[in-house]
Amino acid sequence: MRFSRQDEAAIRRALLAWFRRNARPLPWRKSADPYAIWVSEVMLQQTQVGTVMPYYQRFLEAFPTVADLARAPLERVLEFWSGLGYYRRARHLHQAAKELVRRFGGAFPRDYKQLRSLPGIGDYTARAIMSIAFDLPYTLRDGNVARVLSRLMALQGNLHQLGFRRAVEAQLGGLLSPRRPGHFNQALMELGQTLCLPRVPRCAACPVQHWCWGYKSGQPQVFPQPRPRRAVESRYLAAAILRQGRRVVMVRGLGEGLLDGLWNFPAAFGRSRAEALASLRHKLAGFGIPPLALHHSIAELRHGITYRSIRVHAYPAEISNSFRKKGLRWFSVSTLQRAAISQLARKIARQVFSRG
Ligand code: SF4
Repeated sequence: MRFSRQDEAAIRRALLAWFRRNARPLPWRKSADPYAIWVSEVMLQQTQVGTVMPYYQRFLEAFPTVADLARAPLERVLEFWSGLGYYRRARHLHQAAKELVRRFGGAFPRDYKQLRSLPGIGDYTARAIMSIAFDLPYTLRDGNVARVLSRLMALQGNLHQLGFRRAVEAQLGGLLSPRRPGHFNQALMELGQTLCLPRVPRCAACPVQHWCWGYKSGQPQVFPQPRPRRAVESRYLAAAILRQGRRVVMVRGLGEGLLDGLWNFPAAFGRSRAEALASLRHKLAGFGIPPLALHHSIAELRHGITYRSIRVHAYPAEISNSFRKKGLRWFSVSTLQRAAISQLARKIARQVFSRG
């Protein structure tokens, strides 16, 4: 179904009026600073609003401007990101801040192409900055917006299908408010997050119910069609807790390209517990660590990273000599929780070191 120009204008008005009255007072909505909007948009990628809020506030207190972020060591930036996941986002923010300072004197260019030329700023983020910070007529399509549009238009398909994406974007272009594009985009997202919910849409309270073909069909929840899910993969992880007194050895990354840049206990994956332990011994040997008796696990836990369901076993070993090896670093157990360590390392540390 497509809408007439008249219907488009009426939907736009109804949506903007509803947003004026019902917008949640989210912290990033108080600011028109492109930097603050950029940080919020990056944090909100693949992360829920409720999770992002405390991180956003702490991050902006620590790095209130682009220049502050650019000046900070990456490790400190990662400390403030630790727990949010998808750490590449933090590294890109940091790199892009440096470029913004170097190329634009710390100001955001009001130009889509120049924004896209910055590390980590893809089409979506550039559009978010252009529309929300600068109020320029760029549409924004995230999963919430696609769901609302597919219901409004009773559009079959899902975001994996080009035809579906094109139909959503064509309709979005017609609906976009030329005078308040930033508010319009946020209003559609707000509708998707608060009323047009995936399983049980709250159509009775919806400002665009009158035009919604999904609602008229009696089964709005069937739009859009579910995306094929990637199967969950079960893995074992063996982690070494190499201690000398109250100090412990950490290594950057987890292996298999995961958690790069964050400190972790040296660890290795396997399809069985034994295979993971054998891989760990091999990995430690690769660091030049002499063979250690890693027999008894002192902590067992489960952890999920993207599509992996991981069973973790932590093996302790006391090391008599403090050594220095490339890629490894000693951390004091008492400061570990404040360091740029992964959420997984945090969980392991809590189990292992709460025993004293
Ligand atoms: Fe979503 Fe219901 Fe509103 Fe249609 S009427 S947009 S299905 S909440």
